Amino acid sequence: MYEALSACRLCPRECGANRNAGETGFCGATDKIKIARAAPHMWEEPCISGKNGSGTVFFSHCTLKCVYCQNYQLSTENKGYEITEDELCEIFLNLQKQGVHNINLVTPTHYVPQIITALKSAKEQGLIIPIVYNTSGWEKAETLKMLEGLIDIYMPDMKYFTNKRAEKYSSVRGYFQIASKAVEEMTCQTGKCEFDKNGIMQKGVIVRHLMLPGMMSETKKIMEYLYKTYGNSIYVSLMSQYTPMPQVERFPEINRRLNMTQYDMMVEYCADLGMENVYIQDGESASESFIPPFET
Ligand code: SF4
Repeated sequence: MYEALSACRLCPRECGANRNAGETGFCGATDKIKIARAAPHMWEEPCISGKNGSGTVFFSHCTLKCVYCQNYQLSTENKGYEITEDELCEIFLNLQKQGVHNINLVTPTHYVPQIITALKSAKEQGLIIPIVYNTSGWEKAETLKMLEGLIDIYMPDMKYFTNKRAEKYSSVRGYFQIASKAVEEMTCQTGKCEFDKNGIMQKGVIVRHLMLPGMMSETKKIMEYLYKTYGNSIYVSLMSQYTPMPQVERFPEINRRLNMTQYDMMVEYCADLGMENVYIQDGESASESFIPPFET
């Protein structure tokens, strides 16, 4: 059905799997869309969740599969159920009817062609709320260009600065270089950040960084890079909600919660750099209760 899925190179893994013929690559996704949850979600940044929630669609499978994944049921266990493009379009329209502030596509990379079809159809049928592309940051600029004009808000992670960490926890090389090119493409597409009168983001980029235990040097380098490159023209979300999942037992150095004193030091570090647009979390955010239940 889709040319790009015949020798899939949608993400930087570039497996070349013929997904149209039923093959799967690293992510494990076929040509059928699979999702695990579609519902209003209150636990995003305030400018995304607002009062009514963000209309999140959690896609199954993942192109990165970090060892500490907070959504490992989807990324690694591949939980979820298959839907068609028409059903995805229907989901978008139903979420809008429920009054959510936006449609939030969570881990969408491996389904970009199908999402484009569903979004175009939904927009023709009256979808007008902003579309959020919520990603691990492991993205090819070429794939992002396919989305130009359809996405209003990009919410990429920037997880690692060093290859050592990226290889160990996400089995990728060159993560930082690839994620920084992706953020560059995202900022080009969205331009200046804009908010409505209630403070809900309408367009722009929010870069998320989940602090991992014992890795302050990674956080510092990433914050320095973001400020030096973008000043205060983008938003940054410094996240403290890291929860050690059962599968990290074999990585004892991250099999613990984040030290909140170190988190507070990083918040101060951002302020000292001159960063003004940083979302921060309190200690209570580090809880499994922030991980929603998924349908299978
Ligand atoms: S999207 Fe999946 S199949 Fe395609 S290149 Fe990436 S990991 Fe491979």
